[in-house]
Amino acid sequence: GEVRVGLGSCCVAGGSAKIKDALEDELDALKCKVDIKPVGCVGMCHRTPLVEVVIPGEEPVLYAKVKPEDIPEIVERHFWSDSPFIKVRAATESLLKRLYSDAARNVPARHELNVRDEPIADFLGRQRHIATEHCGILNPSDMDEYKNLGGFKALKEVFFKNDPQRIIAEIEKSGLRGRGGGGFPTARKWGIVRNAPGEKKYIILNGDEGDPGAFMDRMIMESYPYRVIEGMIIASFAVGASEGFLYVRAEYPLAVKRVRMALKEFEAAGFLGDNILGSGHSLRLKVFEGAGAFVCGEESALIASLEGRRGMPNYRPPFPAENGFNDCPTLVNNAETYSLVPWIVRNGAEAFAELGTEHSKGTKVFSLAGKIERGGLIEVPMGITIREVVEQIGGGVADGRAFKAVQIGGPSGGCIPARLGDTTVDFEALTGVGAMMGSGGFVVLDDADCMVEMARYFLSFTQSESCGKCTPCRVGTKRMLEILTRLCNGNGKQGDIEKLEQLAKTVKAQSLCGLGKTAPNPVLTTIQYFRDEFEAHIEGRC
Ligand code: SF4
Repeated sequence: GEVRVGLGSCCVAGGSAKIKDALEDELDALKCKVDIKPVGCVGMCHRTPLVEVVIPGEEPVLYAKVKPEDIPEIVERHFWSDSPFIKVRAATESLLKRLYSDAARNVPARHELNVRDEPIADFLGRQRHIATEHCGILNPSDMDEYKNLGGFKALKEVFFKNDPQRIIAEIEKSGLRGRGGGGFPTARKWGIVRNAPGEKKYIILNGDEGDPGAFMDRMIMESYPYRVIEGMIIASFAVGASEGFLYVRAEYPLAVKRVRMALKEFEAAGFLGDNILGSGHSLRLKVFEGAGAFVCGEESALIASLEGRRGMPNYRPPFPAENGFNDCPTLVNNAETYSLVPWIVRNGAEAFAELGTEHSKGTKVFSLAGKIERGGLIEVPMGITIREVVEQIGGGVADGRAFKAVQIGGPSGGCIPARLGDTTVDFEALTGVGAMMGSGGFVVLDDADCMVEMARYFLSFTQSESCGKCTPCRVGTKRMLEILTRLCNGNGKQGDIEKLEQLAKTVKAQSLCGLGKTAPNPVLTTIQYFRDEFEAHIEGRC
C-alpha cells in the first residue's frame, strides 16, 4: 500500500509537510513498510492537509484536515504491524475507545473523512481533469510515474510523425484557445509564428500569473511540470522554435524548483537539446524568474523584462508572434494552455472539442475562492453555469449567507450578480455580461460584501500595477480610484457615478495594453449591476 500526501503550496501552507514527517516517524516506529508518496495539488484547498491511504484491493480512503495527532489513528486503521509496541498501544486504545468517543479524543470519525462522502464527491463530480489529469495521484517529481501514466506518448508520436503542420491542424480542430486571458485561438497563434520569416524562433512559457485570488498556473507548474514542458516541446516543434524560456514569477519558489528539476531530467532523457529523438528538431529551455510585476503577464512587457529592459508593454503591431524576443518570432502561451496539448495529441482533437460550447472548447481551470464553502483549484468543462460552480462544486456560500455576486477573471474581470448565475462559463458569455474569462480567478461574494468597496479594492490593485507608460491608464485609473475612495469614505458627491463611468470608458478605450483596457471592468460592472449601492454611499444610506 501507499500513503499519498498532498504537497502543493496550499497543502504545505496548511501543514502537510508536518503531516508527512509525522507519518514517516509513526511508520518507522512501528516498522511498517509503506510508501509515503508526495502528490501535487488535489484541488481541495479547503480541506488541507490531505492524506490518502491506498491499499490494493481496497477502496482508497482520503483523510482531510489531518492534524499530526491524527496520524497514529490513521496508521493503525490501515496498517497492522507485528510490533509488540502497536499491540500494547492497540489494547490501550481499545480501552480508551470504550471510555471516550472519537470526538472527545479529537480524532475525526472515519465517515467524515472518506472521499466518497457527499461533499467531496460533489466537489469532484462535475469536474473534468485534463490539464490537471491524475490530480492527487501523480508525484510531481517522478518522471517514471508520469511516463507510466501516458506521459511522453504525445511527444513521441509528434516526433515520430514529424509533421509540424499536422499538429497545428490538430490543435485547430480541437478549438483550443489560449487560457491566459484573451482566448486567442491557439492554432492561429502557432501558425503565425511558424509562418513568420526568420531563422531563429523562440518559445516562452508565461508563468507570471499575478491576479489576486488566482493560482491556476502556480498549481499546474508545481503539480504537473513534466506535462507543461511536454506541451511546450510539442509547441516548439510545431512552430519551429529552437530556444525558449519558462518565465515563472519568483514568488512561486516551489514551481521554480520543480520546473528546474524537470528540465534537467528532460535533458538527461534526450527530450531537450540537439536533434530530439532523431527528429532534427533542437530545443534549449531556461528558467527565468520574474520579479513580480502584474504588467509582465502582458506578452510584450514579459519579453521586455526577459531582454533586461523595464517590463513595459509595446505598441502593437507588431505582435510578439511576428516580432518578439530579440526581434524574432516568439510564441507565448501560459502554463494551462501548454498542459492541455499532450492530452489533445494523445486523445484526439475531437475528444477535446466534444467538451464545452460552440466557440469555447474543452475545460478551464479556475481557482475558486472568496466566500465559498469549498474553495480550491477546479477544472470544469466550458459551458458549466456560474451557479453550478458555486452551488454544486463550491457547496454554496460560506456561513449560510446569500450568494451576491462573483468576480470572474481577476482584477480585470467583472462582477456578475447572482441573478445572472445561469450565465455559462465560456469566453463569449462572460464577455457578454461585462466580465471576462481572464486567466481563471473565480471569487465568490456574499450579501455582506459592499460592491463599491469591491470595485475600489480591485481598481487599487490595477492602479498600483499600472506601469505608467500611457496617460489614460496612468492618470485615469488614479482619478477613478480617488472617486471610489471618497465614496467608500462617505464623502461622495452627486455626479461621481457619472464621472466614474465616463473615466472608465475613456481608460478602457484609450489605454495601450490589456491592463488599462480591462482595469475599469470591475467598476463598470458594479455600477451596471449594483448602482443602488453607489447611490446609497452618496446619499449617506450606508
Ligand atoms: Fe502601462 Fe497601463 Fe498603459 Fe498598459 S495601459 S502600458 S499598464 S500605463
